[in-house]
Order: sequence, then C-alpha cells, then structure tokens
Amino acid sequence: MPTSGVRAVLLGERDRTIARVAALSREFDGIVEAADLVATDDEHDPEGHTIAFERQQVAGLLREAHARLVAVDLALERVDAGRYGTCEICGCSIPTDRLAARPEAATCVPCAV
Ligand SMILES: [Zn+2]
Repeated sequence: MPTSGVRAVLLGERDRTIARVAALSREFDGIVEAADLVATDDEHDPEGHTIAFERQQVAGLLREAHARLVAVDLALERVDAGRYGTCEICGCSIPTDRLAARPEAATCVPCAV
C-alpha cells in the first residue's frame, strides 16, 4: 500500500479510537455517578456488585482503547520514518493481511506473543 493510503487508514483508525475513548469515558463517568447516587454496599447489595463489575469492564475497555491510540500514533511515526510494515522485533515484512486487520501492528504475528 502506498504511504498516503496507510496514513489515511491510520488517521481514520485514530479518529475512531478517539471517539471510542470519549464514549467510554462518558460511560465510565455515568457508572460512577450512578454508583454514587445508589450508595451501594458492594459486598451485600447485588446491584452494587453489578455496578462494580460494569465499572471494571468499562475501565478495561478504556485502557485498551488508550493503548490502541498510542499504538496508532506510533504506527504513524513509523510511516514517517519509513519503517511502517516492518516488524520491530525480527525485521521481517509484516504480512499485509495482518496489517489489514490491525493497521497499527508493530510486529509480525510470531513476534506479537
Ligand atoms: Zn517479527
């Protein structure tokens, strides 16, 4: 793929990820507010348990989305440096089907483990 195409894909991915971070942050704040309103006891109240679980889940998704945003930014830097599509660990060319699935990938599949 020409560099301009890769940049466009990564910038699109960046926009989507930023939107996802914003949506998840709102969701997280909503859960925290709801929890404050209910003032539940996590150990004995089944609803408190559910809220704690939801909060954990959203926090996990939020961490993933943040990590992805960092990975996309790093991929954009690699495009600028002319290193995009080269595995950061073994130096092989990352297969195009992997880049199609994960455009921000910095390593080939065997090195990703
Ligand atoms: Zn590799």
